[in-house]
Amino acid sequence: MKSLRGSLKSLSNALLDLLYPNFCGVCGSFLFKDHYFVACKECWEEKFTPYSGRKCSVCGHPLEFLPGAPSICRRCLEKKRTFNFDSVFYFTLYRGLPEFAVKELKFSRLKPVAQAIGETISGHLLEVLSQLGVDLIVPVPVSRETLRERGFNQTEEILKRAGIPYVSLLEKPFTPEKQSTLSFKERSENVRGVFRVKSEFKLELLGKSVLIFDDVFTTGATADEIAGLLKRHGAREVFVYTVCYTPFNSLSEKRDE
Ligand SMILES: [Zn+2]
Ligand SMILES: [Zn+2]
Repeated sequence: MKSLRGSLKSLSNALLDLLYPNFCGVCGSFLFKDHYFVACKECWEEKFTPYSGRKCSVCGHPLEFLPGAPSICRRCLEKKRTFNFDSVFYFTLYRGLPEFAVKELKFSRLKPVAQAIGETISGHLLEVLSQLGVDLIVPVPVSRETLRERGFNQTEEILKRAGIPYVSLLEKPFTPEKQSTLSFKERSENVRGVFRVKSEFKLELLGKSVLIFDDVFTTGATADEIAGLLKRHGAREVFVYTVCYTPFNSLSEKRDE
C-alpha cells in the first residue's frame, strides 16, 4: 500500500516538476519538488548560515558592519539609544539567499519556504530559548488584510515548521502604511498603537519572560512597539528573535534619523 501511495506521490511531484519547473535562485540548477523550494540543497546549506560575529548589546547590530566600542555600536553610543526590549537575537543577515527566501515566502506567497527556514533555524532558536529561559514565544501578527492577501502569517508558519510552540496573543487590528521607505522615527510613529494583546490573554503576561518572533529586524520599530506593549501588560522581560537582521549601511543612513 505504502509503495503505491509513494509512487503516486512521486508521480504527481514529477508532473508538477514538468508543469511548473523551478530553478535554484543561486546556481540556476533545476529544483525538484522535494528540494528547498528557492535554492538547491547545496546552495541552501552553503548560503543560509548563521551569523556568528559580534553584536551590539543594545540593538543587536552586527559590529563588523557598524563598528563602535567593544560591545555597543556607533549609533547606540552616539544617540544613547534605548529600546523597550532587553536584547535581540537573530539567525542570519538580511542579504543574499536569506533575503531572497524571506521575500519569496512573503511576497510570492511561497509557503513551503517556511519549512526550509523553520528547519534551518530550529536548532539555533532552541539554543537561544534554553539560554534565556523564556516562558512564552509570541509571533508578530499580520493584519487581517495581509492575511487575506497572503493566506498565512509567515512568522507562525516558520515557528510551526521549526517545531517551536508559540502563543498568538497579539493582534494587529490596524494596517499601517508600508514601512519600507521610512526612517526609524517615522516607523515608530507608523506602528504606534497598531498591535493589541487579545483580551483573553490580558493576564497571561504578568511576570513572564517573553520572546517576540519576527521574520526580519529592520529598524527595530516594530519590536520596540510590541515590547513596550507586552511590558505594559506586565511582562518581566522581552527578547526579540528574528530570522534575519538588516545591517545598516551608509546608503540607508537617512532611515535612522
Ligand atoms: Zn543551487
Ligand atoms: Zn546598537
